[in-house]
Amino acid sequence: MSDRTASEVVESVSTAFERAFGSAPEGVWSAPGRVNLIGEHTDYNGGLCLPIALPQRTFAAVARRDDDRLRMVSAQQNGVSEVALDDISPEQPGGWGAYVAGVLWALRRDGLEVGGLDVVVDSTVPFGAGLSSSAALECAVAAAASDLHDLGLLDSAEGRARLAARCVEAENDIAGAPTGGMDQSASLLCDEAAALLLDCRSGATEQVPFDLAATGHALLVTDTRAEHALNDGQYAVRRDACERAAATLGVETLREIAPADLPASLDRLDSDEERRRVRHVVTEIERVTLAVDALRAGDLEEVGRLFDASHASLRDDYEVSCDELDVATATARAHGALGARMTGGGFGGSCIAIVPADRVKEVAGAVAAAFEEHGYTPPVSFAVVASAPAHRDA
Ligand code: ADP
Ligand code: MG
Repeated sequence: MSDRTASEVVESVSTAFERAFGSAPEGVWSAPGRVNLIGEHTDYNGGLCLPIALPQRTFAAVARRDDDRLRMVSAQQNGVSEVALDDISPEQPGGWGAYVAGVLWALRRDGLEVGGLDVVVDSTVPFGAGLSSSAALECAVAAAASDLHDLGLLDSAEGRARLAARCVEAENDIAGAPTGGMDQSASLLCDEAAALLLDCRSGATEQVPFDLAATGHALLVTDTRAEHALNDGQYAVRRDACERAAATLGVETLREIAPADLPASLDRLDSDEERRRVRHVVTEIERVTLAVDALRAGDLEEVGRLFDASHASLRDDYEVSCDELDVATATARAHGALGARMTGGGFGGSCIAIVPADRVKEVAGAVAAAFEEHGYTPPVSFAVVASAPAHRDA
């Protein structure tokens, strides 16, 4: 992960733009990565989740073109990716450029007038760490397109939600990654010092105060740097199991199963696998509601207990954890964390822990030592605060 400040990246991405395209960009926009505090694997079940925007952001220096071509350069990738707007498809431009091109494709399909762009991106969000570098990339480009083409979609929550929906389509339909809607909503709608309660059934959002520093605590993110090959396939398998169970139970999504009806619903499923998947989803949605209540009441101990329960449910019922995530969360707890859980899709990626501010170093050190002892790749830990959503920087 990079420690560069926003103004350093704004400057270097502008310089890179001039170098790549021979003139200055019209502006620089950025959008944050996210961590989900609680409510994992609930978005595609019409459930609740509670992400915050990270201080780590992806920056896009952008200028309009006279034709309908899109040219893209990334400080994190080699070469230039290029495509004509009419040719954008799951096959073209392929690679990382699909995340950028997909946004323009989705905006145009929505009837919005969008022309060709030159784009240079640079990012402080680690890739593939479960912190949503893909949504940060899409949302930075969407913000730029909205401003440069006078779409005005950054000016209201409705406009931002519409942009988020287009970014989800970019990721699903052009980049070919079957994700739910949480990441893009977080990147466009989360406020500073707040978590975003996102109802994935109605699309409703609510800001929930989240300022751990005010009570002498910190949110510690640990990128385990573990990447397990099963990742992509397993996500689809979990989604399928949820859809099958919902069909058996005669509901559109598992959101419709109230916690009180869970035991009766489980009795109606005949596979143990589906029972465990449903139990995770229904109890996890309830934990989001409880965590919001606890945050509003200032009861961090309870939030910590809910983190622990969420992790156990993801590990045992949903089976998306891995050894590295289990070791990191257990070590954090043993060294004074109020609670710790994996965050993101699982099978690697990151975990989060609520830690007394004066123990951040100790916990990070203990997790690093535990990883060394187990022979894992060294993890990267950093404290984060709830940060600003997508905006124009320059
Ligand atoms: P995550 O979103 O958890 O970081 P994903 O696999 O969803 O992981 O997205 C990572 C992919 O997004 C990268 O492999 C790359 O294709 C693309 N991407 C993200 N950030 C950038 C960037 N700054 N430059 C180029 N591609 C990027
Ligand atoms: Mg992603």
